[in-house]
Amino acid sequence: MTSGRVIVVGASHAGAQLCTSLRQEGWRGEIVLVGDEPVLPYHHPPLSKTFLAGSTGLDELLIRTPAFYATQDIRVRQGRITAIDRAARRVQFDDGETLDYGKLALCLGARPRPLPLPGGDLPGVHALRNAADSLAIRADLASARHVVIIGAGYIGLETAASLRGLGLAVTVLETAERVLQRVTAPAVSAFYARVHREHGVQLRTGVTIAALTGTDRVRGVQLADGEVIAADVVIVGIGVLPNVELAAAAGLAVDNGIVIDAHGLTSDADIVAAGDCASHPCPFSGRHLRLESVPNAGEHAKVAAATLCGKDKAISALPWFWSDQYDLKLQIAGLNTGYDEVMVVGDAERGRSLTACYLHAGRLIAADCINRPQDFLRLRKLLGDRQSPDRAALEALLSPSAAPVSARETAP
Ligand SMILES: Cc1cc2nc3c(=O)[nH]c(=O)nc-3n(C[C@H](O)[C@H](O)[C@H](O)COP(=O)(O)OP(=O)(O)OC[C@H]3O[C@@H](n4cnc5c(N)ncnc54)[C@H](O)[C@@H]3O)c2cc1C
Repeated sequence: MTSGRVIVVGASHAGAQLCTSLRQEGWRGEIVLVGDEPVLPYHHPPLSKTFLAGSTGLDELLIRTPAFYATQDIRVRQGRITAIDRAARRVQFDDGETLDYGKLALCLGARPRPLPLPGGDLPGVHALRNAADSLAIRADLASARHVVIIGAGYIGLETAASLRGLGLAVTVLETAERVLQRVTAPAVSAFYARVHREHGVQLRTGVTIAALTGTDRVRGVQLADGEVIAADVVIVGIGVLPNVELAAAAGLAVDNGIVIDAHGLTSDADIVAAGDCASHPCPFSGRHLRLESVPNAGEHAKVAAATLCGKDKAISALPWFWSDQYDLKLQIAGLNTGYDEVMVVGDAERGRSLTACYLHAGRLIAADCINRPQDFLRLRKLLGDRQSPDRAALEALLSPSAAPVSARETAP
């Protein structure tokens, strides 16, 4: 069946791709894309990079032009869906309107994890998830001198790099012992910590934050030992929570994300889910995973659209990710969960490029490549083809500029 109405809820990376793929896969019926932001779907990665720095406008970030939706006969409806009635196959909008569906796609994304501390909601404290957040930060920066970023994950570090580029004094506070601790090996963390310090970032790891201080607006960040770090603006990047409440209230299976099968289907055969809100059976790890990346949203959306059109497609792409900081492009292939050895190629102590290969039982499972696009392409292809070279094969393949160093390490 490729007729009837599909409602796609959530107008961002997953939602835009799902609508596009539905037409490519032959959906002839009505497509309604519902989003609660006052703008067509746009690329999110620049929000912490060029858009935050003011060098890119929102219209340059649109994933598809307004004309695309018109020519593809995709109706875009602004509004928030507040309930799903699965028995009646109907969704409810925040303005009270209801709309019936034949098929439903949930592309609800995720929202920033709030900072559970006194002062966490003071004016001048920001999260960064969407264009409105990035614009609000930009507006606040106009009169700011010193910015404190809480959290040294990708978003915190990308933001630090962008703000240093604007000449602001930046302090990054991280509770863990090293930056990117949850996602990379110690060598990669050390590389990034060094580069940020070289660029003038005050980086402090292993700190406990007690409160944000100020009355009318944020003035500082108080640590557990009483020290107060002055701040005109605070940006919190401590992870996200998947938007699952709508699905859970409708009785769909939820477990750290809306649970989908390999074809993108939820526990209701008429409802698919895709992107940051969805947890899928990962063929590379053998378990359900929720990933937060643009490539993952695209893969989910393409598979879900094919499924809605009655085709047999499964989630199969190798997970990959990227992060841009300063002149450094990090590209990650595969999942490093469970690694027990890291082989580093490049000069981690002084250089601007590096490849870290993650091995399990002597075989490659993932790689972080910084300014080494050839390594990334080769390793991503191998991993995607289910080949797991051993250390000797990797040494030959990566043509190191410096001798590789191997370390026994355990995954974080
Ligand atoms: C600052 C920043 C930088 C990033 N950088 C990178 C990067 O370099 N590389 C990378 O791969 N990934 C990056 N990401 C992650 C990437 O942007 C996300 O993985 C991607 O946006 C996920 O797309 P999505 O469509 O699943 O969800 P989202 O982008 O979260 O979109 C979900 C949409 O649904 C809307 N919505 C939610 N509930 C409802 C409802 N009930 N009714 C109507 N609408 C609703 C939301 O408002 C939102 O517009 C970055 C993210 C951020 C925030």
